[in-house]
Amino acid sequence: MVNDKRKVVLVGTGMVGMSYAYSLLNQNACDELVLIDLNRKRAEGEAMDLNHGLAFSGSSMKIYAGEYKDCQDADIVVICAGVAQQPGETRLALLKRNAKVFRSIVEPVTVSGFDGIFLVATNPVDIMTRITYMLSGFNPRKVLGSGTALDTARLRYLLGEYFRVDPRNVHAYVMGEHGDSEFVPWSQAQVATKSILELCGENPEIDKNKLTEIEREVQGAAYKIIEAKDATYYGIGMALTRITRAILGDENSVLTVSAMLRGEYGQNDVFSGVPCIINKSGVKRVLKLSLSQEEAGRLGESCKVLRDCYEELAAEDAAN
Ligand code: NAD
Repeated sequence: MVNDKRKVVLVGTGMVGMSYAYSLLNQNACDELVLIDLNRKRAEGEAMDLNHGLAFSGSSMKIYAGEYKDCQDADIVVICAGVAQQPGETRLALLKRNAKVFRSIVEPVTVSGFDGIFLVATNPVDIMTRITYMLSGFNPRKVLGSGTALDTARLRYLLGEYFRVDPRNVHAYVMGEHGDSEFVPWSQAQVATKSILELCGENPEIDKNKLTEIEREVQGAAYKIIEAKDATYYGIGMALTRITRAILGDENSVLTVSAMLRGEYGQNDVFSGVPCIINKSGVKRVLKLSLSQEEAGRLGESCKVLRDCYEELAAEDAAN
């Protein structure tokens, strides 16, 4: 840790940022929380509101609206800031606007002397994490995105419901892009230590097609929630808190974050959702699962989507 207090700076106090902050407070996950937003008044209001809950929490967290210079001795800077897609706006145009937002954030954070971990939630999260890495010049192990952490939690919940097992005893991951090309490597999915594919083979009551259905449900979950309530925020707020705890507690926990691949799974030059060991150094290690050939192919396709998207953005930038 940079100092003896666990200090987090949150940039972007919208729905996602504040769901994260609320969850941090309720889980007493840090000692100092600084809120920064383009809309300073909003950050101040949110700090007041959270502080008024302190008396009911088991936490004595120091919470205030701050400045980029407050990042200097922070352990983690979490970025949830972003602009929303305008009607008719292309994905690339949105990405360009969010890249501009990130320039206005990452530069002052690094200028402050910050030497901790960047954690990114803004979408498209794998691309925004790569942009943060490029802009900061940090060691890639110190820059991570929420990746498929939330998708993995959704998968474990749905498998837990189907098998009637506590999701904490379901071990399965969503890998690849946090988006349409993400997938589940079923060869690696287990209930306790029992392979889910084996369970399907042994028990005629378990329908293998249900696994495909569950995978599709995970892929479409964000669309469904957005259709119903315009945005998703509680789940991602809790996923970010889980990653924060793993970093601040030096836990060596396995979480599917967006991490830079440097030869793992035969992939390079890409940030993608993969299971990683997370501790105070950020991504301590990318876990290399024994994927089947078909699964490795799907990861390769997903990484290609992400690489192409980033290169499209870089080419646009170079042309301007
Ligand atoms: P929101 O509009 O409620 O909040 C965005 C905040 O960013 C606003 O408060 C805004 O003032 C601030 N902001 C904009 N530009 C800024 C700048 N230059 N500097 C500082 N602050 C700035 O949006 P939201 O619902 O909180 O979503 C935030 C992001 O999180 C979106 O990109 C969304 O797609 C993403 N998200 C990610 C996941 C995931 O799994 N990774 C899940 C849900 C949402």
